[in-house]
Amino acid sequence: MEEFRVTDDAVTPMMAQYLEIKAQYADAILFYRMGDFYEMFFDDAVAAAAALDIALTKRGFHLGEPIPMCGVPVHAAEGYLLTLIRKGFRVAIAEQMEDPAEAKKRGSKSVVRRDVVRLVTPGTLTEDTLLEARRHNYLCAYAEVRDEAALAWTDISTGELRVMPCTRNRLSPELARLAPREVLVSEAMDTDLRPVIEDLGAAVTVLSRGSFDSAGAERRLCALWQLGTLEAFGNFARPELAAMGALVDYLDLTQRGKLPLLRAPQREMQCGAMQIDAATRRNLEITGALSGGRAGSLLDAVDRTVTAGGARLLERRLSSPSCDVGLIAARHDAVDNLLEAARLRDTLRDSLRRVPDMDRALSRLALDRGGPRDLAAIRNGLSQAALIANQLTGSEDPVLASAARQLVGNEDIINLLNQSLVDEPPLLARDGGFIATGFDSDLDATRRLRDEGRGVIAGLQSDFVTQTGIQSLKIKHNNVLGYFIEVTTTHADRMMAPPLNATFIHRQTTANQVRFTTVELSALETRILNAGNHALDLEKGHFADLRAQVLAQAGAIGQAASGLAELDVIAALADLALSEDWVRPRVDASHAFQIEGGRHPVVEAALRRQGAPFIANDCALTEGDTPAIWLLTGPNMAGKSTFLRQNALIALLAQAGSYVPARAAHIGLVSQLFSRVGASDDLARGRSTFMVEMVETAAILNQADDRALVILDEIGRGTATYDGLSIAWATLEHLHDVNRCRALFATHYHEMTALKGKLPGVENATVTVKEWEGEVIFLHEVQRGAADRSYGVQVARLAGLPKAVIDRAKVVLEALEAGERAGGQRQKALIDDLPLFRAAPPAPVSTPAPKASEVEQRLAALNPDELTPMAALQLVYELKRALT
Ligand code: ATP
Repeated sequence: MEEFRVTDDAVTPMMAQYLEIKAQYADAILFYRMGDFYEMFFDDAVAAAAALDIALTKRGFHLGEPIPMCGVPVHAAEGYLLTLIRKGFRVAIAEQMEDPAEAKKRGSKSVVRRDVVRLVTPGTLTEDTLLEARRHNYLCAYAEVRDEAALAWTDISTGELRVMPCTRNRLSPELARLAPREVLVSEAMDTDLRPVIEDLGAAVTVLSRGSFDSAGAERRLCALWQLGTLEAFGNFARPELAAMGALVDYLDLTQRGKLPLLRAPQREMQCGAMQIDAATRRNLEITGALSGGRAGSLLDAVDRTVTAGGARLLERRLSSPSCDVGLIAARHDAVDNLLEAARLRDTLRDSLRRVPDMDRALSRLALDRGGPRDLAAIRNGLSQAALIANQLTGSEDPVLASAARQLVGNEDIINLLNQSLVDEPPLLARDGGFIATGFDSDLDATRRLRDEGRGVIAGLQSDFVTQTGIQSLKIKHNNVLGYFIEVTTTHADRMMAPPLNATFIHRQTTANQVRFTTVELSALETRILNAGNHALDLEKGHFADLRAQVLAQAGAIGQAASGLAELDVIAALADLALSEDWVRPRVDASHAFQIEGGRHPVVEAALRRQGAPFIANDCALTEGDTPAIWLLTGPNMAGKSTFLRQNALIALLAQAGSYVPARAAHIGLVSQLFSRVGASDDLARGRSTFMVEMVETAAILNQADDRALVILDEIGRGTATYDGLSIAWATLEHLHDVNRCRALFATHYHEMTALKGKLPGVENATVTVKEWEGEVIFLHEVQRGAADRSYGVQVARLAGLPKAVIDRAKVVLEALEAGERAGGQRQKALIDDLPLFRAAPPAPVSTPAPKASEVEQRLAALNPDELTPMAALQLVYELKRALT
């Protein structure tokens, strides 16, 4: 046994080896292979034992202290790896690079050669068990060169590689869209960017500046695709090259030289997709619910895809809806065509159900982590693709026809894999048994020999039974003795006495059995073993060959996989449109936003489960072609938030190429989508509720243009009533006068409904309720007009607030309302009655302003106590005007 020990004055060779490897991977947990286990030592062991909830033991000593140790069995390592990666660790896997017997030949004290074969990080996973089949696993790199910057990303499990120019301002929204697991940045940017990246739930990996060197990057990329120049792929700017180069450099490091099969890079342009920032994504729950996980998200509600590749594509489409009117219309046409062709749609979906994940199989094969099942996945996938192409023959739809063209032309590789592989091959090549009979006559002959040998063993056993007269005699096999003859101890004496001892050679005695061999059995064993090993070698050779041939066709196979994903998405959207009764939206270059009978897909599905109907509502955010704003008031719980979000989701679905939950929809292209809710803490980032609300509102007011769609839900509610009202008021004016965008603005500040008369593009809408015997009945109908109250007290009663509190609230409310009607006097009297609102009188101001402006003069002349809230706001408005 190798010694893992340090005496006070000597480090054993094995310990020296461990420490040397560990020093190179200081920031990762080192899985150090020892026989059938990966062992961890020192701090790694302490951290891993806690994270994995496994026993922490000790082994040997270091500087007089026992060395902490824990281990995981190799066969179960993937599960442990997943837990460690999910908990934010990186894991370096050091394997034994030679047979222990080889090491022994160098001397009894020599150590088995070990080396790290892979560094496992969140963004570089490839195993099916470690990945979510229906989601991408992105690794991003962000690079800045002088005043330009770019973001590159790859999913090594599918080989996709994309890049886009991306300023620092755009980094957060783009990362929110991609939801990467890991982001690479250079040392120089670590401090600035870490909070942004970690906030989005991705791991930050810092690389040296050298990894981001754009000249070196160009060389690395040319070497990767074996090109003299990258121009064949387009002209990339320096930061784009730097970001892609960093990705390749990191993959080289983590995969230890075995680079994944990266496709040709594709450049994305920002203007090509609807811009949606991180807060909006969270708030609209596009691909993940606020409560975490996919359930309850839009993606979950609309995903009818039947392949993993299709599911990933749908997620990409919903994450970045298109801004290309032509492309959107073409996708709607395709959905329309499959909607009409019911038979074709059903057969297509049936065939797609049998399509395996070719992208991921291909990527594992490229990284030399694949097995015969991955070859079978390629075979089955390509065969299904050919079948599906056939089903689509004659389709004149450009999107369907172009996808169908991607599916054909792989007959050679299909034939090869059909002939060479058995129907259901095993997972690992090293187990053999995956090459079909008839493919290689040499292999067939060797296998016959091996199998016949097994038959001969059975014959030999019955010969021995006859020869010895021991009916219970058996020939068995184990890894230590190989084949042996076994009898119970009661027969031992007879076997070891003449004449039988001339044939049977004693090997081992156990508690109940005695084991023998014979010259004939040993010879046979050698023959079987040789044949078995030879057959395995032949199969391994075939595997390598088939793998190489598949990889040579990687481009075409990738094309077929993306064609299948496209078809899956279209067929799934057609299925969705049909079963949910969705309608084709009209998307054009106007500023229209006319929705008839719109519904919220997620709320509708939830209500349906409870047997409750969803009330469809209209929304019109344009006057002619001029963007308009709806100011939505109405009681609590009436459905304001639902209405706001459903309209944003309808725009998003339409531009993602889907039909929409409405009776009719006409949408002028939305290039930016913003959604904000008036109260969500971000205490982890040290921002209060109100601060978050204001930061987010500021982002909208600074960015939204006339193609933006803005959803503001109760902005201003995180502060005192008048401050909140003033901010909400001014925000709405700014949206109307400056941003000039389409917007939905929900509020409980009923005073704001007065803006309708003042701003031509503002329309009041309200969600109706009925009062019946003191109860509120929610009708969930959105109508033009303004609400006069919020029924907050009634809703609070429904929520179960104690009766005493409700009764008191009613008294306070009546008094406040009466006060408002009486010009503030009663309100003031009431406030004086309520200790909560009582405040010390302000200290007298001693230094008067030197020269009063008009605004100051007017302010000085008035008595705030005599102003109604409306009059105060009107005044603010006039004062502001006086300033400009
Ligand atoms: P608050 O002002 O208290 O935030 P709200 O007006 O924003 O309330 P929502 O949260 O949108 O109200 O909706 C409350 C509930 O009403 C939803 O959870 C849903 O069950 C139901 N609801 C909303 N809209 C509809 C609709 N159109 N049809 C049927 N039920 C609806």
